[in-house]
Amino acid sequence: MANPRDDFSSKTKNILAKRVGFRCSNPNCRKLTCGANESPEKVTNIGVAAHIAAAAKGGPRYDECMSPDERKSLSNGIWLCQSCSKLIDVDETRYPAEVLMKWKAIAEDLAILDVETNSPAGNISQDKELIKFYVQCFDRPAFQDDICQEGRMEDFDKAIEDTIVALNTGILRTRDGAIIKQAEGKSVIQNPDWREKLDNISEMLVSIRRRLKIAKVEHAYTVNETGGDVFYCFRDDELAEWFNLTRREILKVLSSICREVGIRELHFWSRRYRW
Ligand SMILES: [Zn+2]
Repeated sequence: MANPRDDFSSKTKNILAKRVGFRCSNPNCRKLTCGANESPEKVTNIGVAAHIAAAAKGGPRYDECMSPDERKSLSNGIWLCQSCSKLIDVDETRYPAEVLMKWKAIAEDLAILDVETNSPAGNISQDKELIKFYVQCFDRPAFQDDICQEGRMEDFDKAIEDTIVALNTGILRTRDGAIIKQAEGKSVIQNPDWREKLDNISEMLVSIRRRLKIAKVEHAYTVNETGGDVFYCFRDDELAEWFNLTRREILKVLSSICREVGIRELHFWSRRYRW
């Protein structure tokens, strides 16, 4: 006999979907998961109530300490589109329960904020206001310090991730997870040039995270801790330079938008590089 599955009831699935406004909870996706079917009485649904800890033994993130009731409870579910529900199950190392819990919390907060602000665009709908918000998201040490003088690499990675989420969803979170500002994701920007530049910036941010991950696996840097300070020493100078140059490039693209909007530009001021 196959392992018993602790599936969600339709009631639970329904609540999970509604709590996030029927949108995929992956902050990088946010796809609407239902809409009108050609047949007038039907609804097209591509949403899935996915299990955070698997419904059956051997599944992704299965937690044997959970009871069947806990496994099929609301707290163990997350609403995703079909593609993202597949994604989280093929790589449970990249998508551990903690990450999914975070996605869920963000998606639920966004849904209720949309309800509270009456219109999904909230108060900030103009391109310029949105750009100002995005620029604010880049005004942090992760875009100011030389890579060798960064604090913990994990914090640096987290800061880059938060910036990607802010660009995609319009929300910025503090370290403890509170929402400090809500705007809209870059997809609503009307000016096509600005939108393209922001997409470009987003791709560069993703490549920083990807390169950082490889660097860690390959032990491309060593960590020196003296007193309370942390310094990173890269075995590969070109790689360290790449992190600095990519961030500089990101701020350059962002600054070109700032100039058109007429707001203060941000500069990456690494002391090591003088060009
Ligand atoms: Zn999705």
